[in-house]
Amino acid sequence: MAASDNGTILVVEDDAAVRNLVATALDVHGYRHREVASATAALLELTSARDLSLVILDLGLPDRDGVEVIRTLRGWSLMPVIVLSARQEDADKVAALDAGADDYLTKPFSVDELLARVRVALRRLAYEPGALSQQQPATYSNGPLAIDYDAGVATLAGKELHLTPIEYKLLALLAKNTGKVLTHNFILKEVWGSALASDLPSLRVFMATLRKKIEPAADSPRFIQTHVGIGYRMLQVDASES
Ligand code: CA
Repeated sequence: MAASDNGTILVVEDDAAVRNLVATALDVHGYRHREVASATAALLELTSARDLSLVILDLGLPDRDGVEVIRTLRGWSLMPVIVLSARQEDADKVAALDAGADDYLTKPFSVDELLARVRVALRRLAYEPGALSQQQPATYSNGPLAIDYDAGVATLAGKELHLTPIEYKLLALLAKNTGKVLTHNFILKEVWGSALASDLPSLRVFMATLRKKIEPAADSPRFIQTHVGIGYRMLQVDASES
């Protein structure tokens, strides 16, 4: 994909050194971008600019918390947001992901890792042209894994998977958010309708049984990635794999 097809990336970061690091990395790889240093400037860009495709967002901004920027943006857009957090606490990342962030990096982060996350987020957008308008496609395909949402059927290498209703809901939720880290709370709310911490063990059990059915090698999962203390993410496998 030509860099010019990717739209413009908005970098929101008040630390000039980090902002320049990110801007330089994006420049070198041909991504168009603009930089702002506050939540207010970020929201102004997000509400007025029409060329933006992705936000790289620092959580610790001088005027408002980055989490508020995500919450506000999610009022009208599913534009991918990659969070940069200097804070080590999982709680901050979880709050950002719960508010609707797609992914996170903890500072100090490697530029290669940031670029990899940018590619994943932009690919998600390319696979889901409706992502910005909340439309969902009727079918899903990810390497050998396929889902027909209308029929409520999932297949692996063309063979129907025998999933329980909860396993199917879990798989469909992860699939619809491929590339995005989903928090335990978010998954519990979507699948069970509540987000009680006491439900977490059930989530782990259903995730284990689902994985047994879709991951041939349990110790090297290729579809569902675990984020310890945070949640899970469906990975996009190599398109040539089937
Ligand atoms: Ca900061």
